Amino acid sequence: MRIGDVVWNQDDHSVACAKCDERLSADDENWKEHSLLKRTNAAERLNCGDFGPAYSVYEHPDLELVEIFCPHCKALLAAELYLRDEPLRWTFRSLDVAIEQGYDAAADFAAEPEQWISFGSPR
Ligand SMILES: [Zn+2]
Repeated sequence: MRIGDVVWNQDDHSVACAKCDERLSADDENWKEHSLLKRTNAAERLNCGDFGPAYSVYEHPDLELVEIFCPHCKALLAAELYLRDEPLRWTFRSLDVAIEQGYDAAADFAAEPEQWISFGSPR
């Protein structure tokens, strides 16, 4: 399964770069933690004119741009906005991996039911 420039290989439970096919990590790890990162203040990086006005962001000292590169072929695999010191978000986790890592949908729903969307009949 391909998401952006990363491929999840269900055969060997790995995550690979879609550009060079080199393995980045096992699929129960966050592949971004096995990549090359350039983490900079988002406004300084994006508002300099190199990327055009469509990519300009609000200036804030805690808003960072994280550019994530393949450690093998150096391709840019993702560019994401984070708050300063925010851990790298997972792009995708199987439900099995998420449960192994402590995800509990029932407890999550009980804690914050208004953050869930229902497609069934109204309550
Ligand atoms: Zn690569």
